[in-house]
Amino acid sequence: MQTLNLLQKYIPAFRTLKTPFYFYDMELLQRTVNACKQAMSKYGYHEHYALKANNNAPVLKVIREAGFGIDCVSGNEVLWAIRQGFPVEKIVYSGVGKTDEEINTAIGHNIFCINCESTQEIDIVNRLAAEAGKTVAISVRLNPAIDPHTHEYITTGLEENKFGISEWEFGVMVEKLKTATHLQLIAVHVHLGSQITEAPIFQQLCTRFNQLQEKLRQEGITVAHVNMGGGLGVDYDNPDSCPIVDFESYFATFHEHLKVYEGQTVHFELGRALVAPCGSLITKTLYVKNGQKKNFVVVDAGMTDLLRPALYQAHHAIQQLSSQKTAEIYDVVGPICESSDFFGKNISLPQTQRGDLIAIRTAGAYGQTMNMRYNLRNLPDAYYSDEIKNVQK
Ligand SMILES: *Cc1c(COP(=O)(O)O)cnc(C)c1O
Repeated sequence: MQTLNLLQKYIPAFRTLKTPFYFYDMELLQRTVNACKQAMSKYGYHEHYALKANNNAPVLKVIREAGFGIDCVSGNEVLWAIRQGFPVEKIVYSGVGKTDEEINTAIGHNIFCINCESTQEIDIVNRLAAEAGKTVAISVRLNPAIDPHTHEYITTGLEENKFGISEWEFGVMVEKLKTATHLQLIAVHVHLGSQITEAPIFQQLCTRFNQLQEKLRQEGITVAHVNMGGGLGVDYDNPDSCPIVDFESYFATFHEHLKVYEGQTVHFELGRALVAPCGSLITKTLYVKNGQKKNFVVVDAGMTDLLRPALYQAHHAIQQLSSQKTAEIYDVVGPICESSDFFGKNISLPQTQRGDLIAIRTAGAYGQTMNMRYNLRNLPDAYYSDEIKNVQK
C-alpha cells in the first residue's frame, strides 16, 4: 500500500525556498509530544527532553508547553533552556566533563539536579557548592554495564564507555556521598545509549537498575527520584507510515519491571523519539553523474548539514519529491570533500534530474544541532509548517 507522503502538501512552498533547509512538521511534533505525554501520565512519570537532540526555539516551545523539563549536557545548554523559558526546577544536567565554570552555572541557577558521572565529579561539585555556600542537589549516573545493541558510537552504558559510575566503584562513591557536606543526593540516574529499538533491552535495564538500587539501599543510600534516561529509537525506514513511536509500550515496560519505592518519582530523558520524525532536510539535485559502476545524485546538502550518516553510519529514508518517473538506483552524495559525505548508497529513486528536490527524512534529532561550517559552508535555515502554509507558489 502506498502511504501518503507527509511532505506532499508542502512541496509547492519548498520550491520557493533556498536549499538546503530543514523543515519541521509542527503538527506531527505536537501529535508526538501529546502521545508521549498521554502514555507517561498514566503512571505519573516525568520527562526531561534531551536538548542536544534539537534546540530550535519553536520546537522547544511545544515541548515546554507540554510541561516537560530539560536534560542538558553543557553549561550553555543550561543557559539556553532557561532563556527558552524552562523552569530551573525542571532542568537536569548530565555530562562526563563538566568544567568548574559550567558547574558554577548550574549551581548559580539552582537547577533540579546535577547528574554526577564520576566519583571525582562528586568531590568537585561538593567543593564548588561549599564555595557558593549552598547545598546542591545531585544525582549519580550509574553505568549499568548493559549492551543496548545499537551502533557502538551511540552506546553509553557499557563498562568500556566513559559514562557513569560502575558497580565496582560503589564503595568509594558511598563513602564520598556520606561525607559530602554540601550535596544532597536526590536521584539515581542511568542512560544506556541512543536509537534503542529492541524492547527487551529496556526490560533488562529495569532488572539491572533494581539490583543496583537495592545494593545502594543496603548501604543506606535512598533517593526520592529515579531517572531512566532516554534512548528510545525511532523508525528511520518508514517516516510516513510509522511517524510516531510506540510510547505506550515503552512506558508500560518500565511500569511492569522497574521497582519504585514508596514516594519515589520516575523520570525520563527522551530526546530523539520526540523530535526526529518531525524534521526533514530538504535539498536540491545539483548534478546527476552517470558512472560505469554507479549513478550519483549530487545534492546541495552535505555532511555539514546532516552529520549522522558520516558520523555513525546512520540510515535515513531518502525521497525524491519532484517527479514520478520510473525508478533508478543511485548513490545520493553531498558536495563536501570527504568520501564519507553521502546520504545513502544504492537508493531507489524516480529518475532524477538537475533541480529535483530530495527529502532526507527523520532528521529532526541530532541534525541541525550537529551542523558545522567545514568547507566554510553556510548553515541551513529552518522552516516550520505552521508558518510555511502562507508561502505561495
Ligand atoms: C543524549 C542523552 C539523552 C537522550 O537520548 P535520546 O537517544 O535522544 O533519547 C538522554 N540522557 C542523556 C544523559 C543523554 O546524554
